[in-house]
Amino acid sequence: MSEAAEELIPVRALNQVTYCPRLYYLEYVEAVMPTNEYVEDGLFQHRRVNDPALASRTRKEGDTLRTRSVALSSQKLGITAKLDVLEEQDRVIRPVETKRSAAPKDDHGEPTFWQNDAVQLCAQGLLVEEAFEVTVASGILYYVGSKTRVDVPLGPALREATLAAIDRIRDLSSRETPPEPLPPELRRRCFGCSLATICLPEETLYSIQQSGPESEPPAQPSESECEGAAGVELTRVIPLNDEKAVLYLQEPGAHVGRRAEHLVVTIDGKQTNRIPMASIRQVVIFGNVQVSTQVLHILAEQEIPVSYLTGYGKFVASVMPSPPKNVALRAHQYRAFADPAVALGLSRSIVAAKIANQRTLLMRSLRSQAKDQTADGEADIPDPAPARGSDEPAARDMAEMLDRVDQAPDQGVLLGLEGQSAALYFGEFGRMLKTRPPGESFDFTKRNRRPPRDPVNALLSFAYALLCKDCFAAACTVGFDPYQGFYHAGRHGRPSLALDLMEEFRAIIADSVVLNLINNGMLTPADFLTWRDACQLNDEGREVFFKAYEQRKSTEVTHPVFGYRMTYGRMLEVQARMLAAYIRGDIPRYTGFTVR
Ligand code: SF4
Repeated sequence: MSEAAEELIPVRALNQVTYCPRLYYLEYVEAVMPTNEYVEDGLFQHRRVNDPALASRTRKEGDTLRTRSVALSSQKLGITAKLDVLEEQDRVIRPVETKRSAAPKDDHGEPTFWQNDAVQLCAQGLLVEEAFEVTVASGILYYVGSKTRVDVPLGPALREATLAAIDRIRDLSSRETPPEPLPPELRRRCFGCSLATICLPEETLYSIQQSGPESEPPAQPSESECEGAAGVELTRVIPLNDEKAVLYLQEPGAHVGRRAEHLVVTIDGKQTNRIPMASIRQVVIFGNVQVSTQVLHILAEQEIPVSYLTGYGKFVASVMPSPPKNVALRAHQYRAFADPAVALGLSRSIVAAKIANQRTLLMRSLRSQAKDQTADGEADIPDPAPARGSDEPAARDMAEMLDRVDQAPDQGVLLGLEGQSAALYFGEFGRMLKTRPPGESFDFTKRNRRPPRDPVNALLSFAYALLCKDCFAAACTVGFDPYQGFYHAGRHGRPSLALDLMEEFRAIIADSVVLNLINNGMLTPADFLTWRDACQLNDEGREVFFKAYEQRKSTEVTHPVFGYRMTYGRMLEVQARMLAAYIRGDIPRYTGFTVR
């Protein structure tokens, strides 16, 4: 195919651009192409018209000649199409386009057509006119959902709209950033749009409006506050949570194979587990577990990522379904992250969110310890316990660090502030652990790693490794290169962007799981193994950990900016998508996720 022919616009794109210019841009310019049930169904409905065995074959049905899959192009118009069907009756030629949906009704209850479908059909009519030197007065839209054939006159207004759509595409294709999402009066189109989870229409518009010069930052709601806390009512277009499960595999020597629609785990030839593939959304492999090539193939086909961690829980790699097609986003990413001002701005946002969330967890934990002690009678002690929560010296000092983050002139200063804040936080972490009965108690004095040398540090490292693999998956899902970050240095093999994304979630997901497991007596020191200097959870302890970690991710929380509820697991992806929106130039600012 010549270069010129490659640049022809497929007429399907005219349908998209008429429906929503942003949809066209994301799908064709940025090349992100997820499918949803509407797209899948559309492909299914088109299976017969696209059957290669029927292509360009003419059949006589009564007094009508029908030719399927007719390929036509026009250099003059700059468009190309494969027509579903070309009908000829009494020397009148008409294109027929099949649509999966039902035909809309007009004011009299009669079936009519959608304007975007009519534009696509009209473009086909123009191609037929040029190819066969005839006049095409009308075309047919066949709506499968209502089994309705609707006659569409190709009048002057429709022809004008079609040519305008071609011009619009030319204009959009030369833009660096996508157009804004549809305005509220057209927002109903977003439900059912296959790109809604990528576009985040309401969130993007809200962020644009909030970032006006006069706007104040929105109030930060607490974890327990409900919708509308930020004073907005956004209509969430992405699912609240993930219904499928994460499959953790850790038994040394285990082998994972496939039988029909199930994954089958065997150890020494004996089946130990059989899991329906339809119930899995992610597979996580620890250490010496073998997964057959056949299983990796089928998981990739079903778009289920597989993450590998060492036996100690260090994240190694993920096998993602296929490299994301969104080249434009990665180009934006490399450009944006290479800009010191952009990298510093983003780094400030995530470090501020990290410190704010650590401080919140610290204050909450110490407040709850104080309550427990009061309940135990300690409030009667004449010299009362020191003030808790925000009066804690560490919390006060962290608030002061937080104030300085916004003014940090470079990454070096920021790293220093983050380090000082971490020292304050982990300096108090031992106090966040409840006193347990003898034999169940844990001590923490300071953070150590590589390897972690005591149970609490082992738990923290393990939780961070799981969070990292989830942020890695979120970065890949959105289309980022997970190895190119803006805050963590791009050391070879280090998933820097995943590490950047996880900063704001460290305390509220990972540390929170660790505190929950210890303070509620779900783990005891007997659940750990120590060899030489290295301490790690045993297999039974890990099972308990996986459950608590997944439970934490399925906890619902209110988004501090958008005001709707969503699970932490989903929030990782939302934040990755907002980061993508920022570096694409969609929204003027990236806001880190914080809870009060
Ligand atoms: S979600 Fe709405 S605004 Fe976004 S691309 Fe789809 S139709 Fe357009």
